[in-house]
Amino acid sequence: MGQTLAMEYEPLQIEDFDIRRAMEEASRCLLCEDAPCSKGCPAGTEPGKFIRSIRFRNVNGAAETIRENNILGASCSLICPQERLCEQECSRSGIDRPIQIGMLQQFAMEHERKLDKTYLTVNDTYQGKRVACIGAGPASLACAAELAKQGVEVTIFDEHQQPGGMLRYGIPPYRLPDTVIDQDIHQIKKLGVKFELNHTVTLEELEYMNNTYDAVFVGAGLWAPKKLPLPGADLNGVFTAIEFLKEARETHGELTGLGNVVIIGGGDVAMDCAATCKLLGASTIYDVFIETLEDAPAVQKEKDFIFKLGIPMISEFKPIELIGTEKVERVKFEHISNGSTLEIAADTVIFAVGQTMRDDAATWKNANGGFYGGDMMNGGDTVVRAVQEGKEAAVKMMKSFQ
Ligand SMILES: Cc1cc2nc3c(=O)[nH]c(=O)nc-3n(C[C@H](O)[C@H](O)[C@H](O)COP(=O)(O)OP(=O)(O)OC[C@H]3O[C@@H](n4cnc5c(N)ncnc54)[C@H](O)[C@@H]3O)c2cc1C
Ligand code: SF4
Repeated sequence: MGQTLAMEYEPLQIEDFDIRRAMEEASRCLLCEDAPCSKGCPAGTEPGKFIRSIRFRNVNGAAETIRENNILGASCSLICPQERLCEQECSRSGIDRPIQIGMLQQFAMEHERKLDKTYLTVNDTYQGKRVACIGAGPASLACAAELAKQGVEVTIFDEHQQPGGMLRYGIPPYRLPDTVIDQDIHQIKKLGVKFELNHTVTLEELEYMNNTYDAVFVGAGLWAPKKLPLPGADLNGVFTAIEFLKEARETHGELTGLGNVVIIGGGDVAMDCAATCKLLGASTIYDVFIETLEDAPAVQKEKDFIFKLGIPMISEFKPIELIGTEKVERVKFEHISNGSTLEIAADTVIFAVGQTMRDDAATWKNANGGFYGGDMMNGGDTVVRAVQEGKEAAVKMMKSFQ
């Protein structure tokens, strides 16, 4: 069942998107001089440029442009909200529909993977400089790659077993398979970046690093579990979205016995939890949120997917109590305008109500100086934004070396 579902949601059947179809799609591009699509990409991936290459059958050139500008080009091609970034800005929208930029990016990145290409090189501009990056999420990975290209010796420290941050432990594998994350990490390793995994950096250690490295970048993300302060929120069977998604990922689909699940929240993370519960064979799943269906923050594509999976969404109800003795048994909700109540049976409850910063990251952020970026600075946004902030921090750092 898991397999079928994963296939159903495959964003692109890349085998079907061959060079002929890619060139056809790229030929719809108007080759706009000011490339609004490129301006719409926070990480500067330059779709205007790589689409032009594909149009002229230069897939190598396209993949090189993507890699040069966005070291997470393969992951971003799958999980970027292109519809509200580059594709939203595409001039072709005014004529019929935007160029399928995400698909063309997937096509170019698949070409790189199949041919095991390496496009990036290392120069010796900052040879001898050493930098530590805390966190192996998109912000640190982008910062590290930018520095390594200029000869800086970079070590990334992360508390997890695998690099990627939320790419690996938040975004579910049916949207972003490990193989695609590994493709990006492989390119970063080829630049000479070293990884120290299973390594939680303490405040004292950061102090030490500040004294022993030429600079330190912190991209610690938002990893404090967040639940609503409701009666019963600490009962067994109650999780935060990140706890749940991480465990689902680490147990490789073996997380069973979810029973009846209630998810609280109407954002993309709630939709990821709902679909993951379905994949894991939960008996019933209800996603309940306070907003109207239209106002629920998840993007339409994700809501449509949840509908397609047959998962009921209940809007305009707020949770008021989780009921049970040791383990959760029911969740009680109240309608936000008419006050009517609703109880739903639950063996598992997942709070998908946002993420916050852990105390260690908050202390670092409040300290003066240093280089920071990603979710911990912007409050939680997208992978491309974290990439952009990592790149910007690397540029600032290198200026400070001069
Ligand atoms: C469920 C979910 C789905 C998402 N879906 C999308 C999507 O479809 N598209 C999109 O663009 N964005 C999505 N996002 C957002 C995106 O994942 C984040 O914006 C992005 O990962 C932020 O990158 P970052 O580098 O700032 O932090 P993170 O990715 O959080 O990485 C930070 C890393 O630092 C580590 N760390 C923290 N403190 C320490 C320490 N003291 N010592 C060692 N390591 C430490 C953490 O363990 C983590 O590995 C999603 C987020 C979630 C939670
Ligand atoms: S905005 Fe659209 S049409 Fe113009 S260059 Fe970019 S992809 Fe092509």
